[in-house]
Amino acid sequence: MPSDHLYPDGFVESLLGLLGEKGVRQGEAVLALDPGAHPQNLRARLMARPSSAAEVARVLELCREARVGVVPQGGRTGLAGGAVTREGQLIVSLDRMNHIQRIDPPARTAVVEAGVTLQRLQEALRPHGLVPGIDLGARGSATIGGMVSTNAGGIDAFRYGTMRERVLGLEVALADGRLLEQLSRVRKDNAGLALRQLFIGAEGTLGIVTRVALALVPDPGAQQALLILTDGLGAAVRVLRAVEATPRLALAAAELMSGNHFTVTARALGLAQLAATAPAAFAVLLVVSGADGQSSLEALLAEASERGELIDGPVLANAPQIARTGPSIASGPAASGTMCPCRSMRSPAISRRSASASAGTIPASISMWSVTSPTATST
Ligand SMILES: Cc1cc2nc3c(=O)[nH]c(=O)nc-3n(C[C@H](O)[C@H](O)[C@H](O)COP(=O)(O)OP(=O)(O)OC[C@H]3O[C@@H](n4cnc5c(N)ncnc54)[C@H](O)[C@@H]3O)c2cc1C
Repeated sequence: MPSDHLYPDGFVESLLGLLGEKGVRQGEAVLALDPGAHPQNLRARLMARPSSAAEVARVLELCREARVGVVPQGGRTGLAGGAVTREGQLIVSLDRMNHIQRIDPPARTAVVEAGVTLQRLQEALRPHGLVPGIDLGARGSATIGGMVSTNAGGIDAFRYGTMRERVLGLEVALADGRLLEQLSRVRKDNAGLALRQLFIGAEGTLGIVTRVALALVPDPGAQQALLILTDGLGAAVRVLRAVEATPRLALAAAELMSGNHFTVTARALGLAQLAATAPAAFAVLLVVSGADGQSSLEALLAEASERGELIDGPVLANAPQIARTGPSIASGPAASGTMCPCRSMRSPAISRRSASASAGTIPASISMWSVTSPTATST
């Protein structure tokens, strides 16, 4: 139970009156939850669990009147500390607002409540041959509302953009208890100001996202994933551009990792054979789709190898289900191990490494760049 003096008189009782026992967690019941990416996420020890947009709005109204600070939380996988709380605040969890309200295959749109996890949406779309056009290692916990609020990127951002490009419309509960409904499902919506854009990447500072209309994309189908090691940024980008320029191939996803980042992550995860690959300036993870993909890729990589742009030759991955579930590496110098999980797990691996490092900081050389903007950090 959080200490009574932390909240104004009658505040917790009003919250219980509004949401019922099921809608409020206190004290130990909060601390028993997984804090997620940051140990301080659950420090407030008082959590509201509204089950509708109207309830979220009423909770915000109550908090405004009582002058209680609010921190919305989805899957608590955010890496920027936006879900961190302190005593006296109220966590507003979207975990009960987890309904997929509409999937419209011809229009390629979906409307979901903010607490739906990315993975649940991906699974619901699969029978329709559609995908959200965004994917993250934290897919099992990260929620659509959290992804909107962090403007999440992920490996598909190279092809489909970040969350900002995936959002067609939003419903948001504002701090004064009003509901802003801009749930357009029209792609070519040029009517007036796109207020919804303000809430994307706002980390919950401007309101609580309650529903999201998303643009979907066709499932690219069978894909090839591969990992290549290069000795320089220029060579890495040249390989990427060559893949893009190959007529029978479509570049579905790409991620550039500094060599030391890749090695540290593989080592921390016990992927011995990956960790033992030749030291490289950069590791490039590529996912491609297209008819005849494997042979086109092999030809392209052979040429890059002849030009001396690859270290130890390409590390090829197996074909189907790769990018989403994690491929086995089928051939090449690192003859086994997993690749995409290595990427997905980089945050825990880096945390582990930094926790054990005497300085307690993440080495500056561990970083990740978007291939479209080699100078920008991305996650
Ligand atoms: C293994 C791993 C891999 C990752 N990979 C990527 C990646 O490739 N790309 C990437 O961009 N990120 C990545 N992340 C970070 C994280 O998954 C994303 O930031 C995700 O969008 C956070 O979603 P969440 O539901 O967990 O949000 P939370 O962590 O719960 O919250 C994140 C922020 O959004 C706010 N918020 C949450 N829900 C709402 C809401 N409904 N309305 C308003 N504000 C809200 C919170 O207050 C907080 O400021 C990764 C994280 C992990 C652990």
